[in-house]
Amino acid sequence: MLSKRLSRLKAYKTETTEAKIRLSSNELPYDIPGELKTLILEELKKLQLNRYPDPHSQELREIIGDFFGVPPENLMLGNGSDELIYYLSIAVGEFEQGVYIPIPTFPMYEISADVLGRPKVCVQLGSDFDINLEESLRRLDSEGAVLAYYSYPNNPTGNLFTREKIERIRDRGLFTVVDEAYFHYSGETFLKDALEREDTVVLRTLSKIGLAGLRVGVLIGREEVVSELNKVRLPFNVTLPSQVIAKVVLKEGMEFIENAVKKVVDERDRVFRELKGMKGVKAYPSRANFILFRTPFPASRVHSELVKRNVLVRNMSYLPGLEGCLRVSIGKPEENDAFLSALEESLKSLS
Ligand SMILES: *Cc1c(COP(=O)(O)O)cnc(C)c1O
Repeated sequence: MLSKRLSRLKAYKTETTEAKIRLSSNELPYDIPGELKTLILEELKKLQLNRYPDPHSQELREIIGDFFGVPPENLMLGNGSDELIYYLSIAVGEFEQGVYIPIPTFPMYEISADVLGRPKVCVQLGSDFDINLEESLRRLDSEGAVLAYYSYPNNPTGNLFTREKIERIRDRGLFTVVDEAYFHYSGETFLKDALEREDTVVLRTLSKIGLAGLRVGVLIGREEVVSELNKVRLPFNVTLPSQVIAKVVLKEGMEFIENAVKKVVDERDRVFRELKGMKGVKAYPSRANFILFRTPFPASRVHSELVKRNVLVRNMSYLPGLEGCLRVSIGKPEENDAFLSALEESLKSLS
């Protein structure tokens, strides 16, 4: 018999509508260059697919460690950071103990808690999308929690929470997960805390810097913490092709990644200025590779008007406090131009 818990769960929703210009999943808009793909093919030819991959992804952890300036002992890899979020919800505290989540945010934190039947302390962000500290402390005092998740910067609002607020909540004894999926776009990090403290880990991912197809997520923490968390990790969670491809790209493709990220950051600031100048549109400042914006019209109608014009963005209005909001990922300059003119036309046709 399936658990009663399942009837209360919803499967993770992704945006699957067809459209030529896809700005809905915060991917890097640039695919890796052809020369790199040739190198990858050469490495893939050598693979023995009948063999299991290295269960510890040792070489890849060393390369990622160099990339982040962290020794490999401080790293655990996941099949995407989504998997690592599951592991943390399994491993931190007991299932009857609460999980603190400032909302609206990335849905996986709630989903992982719900799957395990863990109580949640979800506290609405303030109107500035920063953590509501007073309300959080009050709720934590009455309901209690042992694990906290922060998307830093926050997906989908794009802002960085105030560091001191995260620290104040951590002072109440919460194990703190700082999900830095957009680190390369924000430059802000809790890495030092993760290496110094047993109550803090950082999550990173290769998904938002050009390798979403590989599913490689990274947890950074103290060696004692990482080796305990390793006990819940599935043995061969990072596939052989993913390990090989990630190694090639991180060894030979750093220049490509750095240039691509720089272009996206420049475009983010341009798209933000353009949105701000658009009548009726409220755009929220972002430290990530996407921008949240609100229009006076129902988000579902704006969404379908944009799809009619071959542009796909994410409707965020289902999240609490984000009525009328959509999120656009930053694409190539020509894709962003197409989005901006499609949005102008859509708003005109709706008014
Ligand atoms: C996209 C995203 C992830 C997912 O990362 P994967 O490594 O692809 O699983 C994790 N956290 C946040 C906040 C994200 O936006």
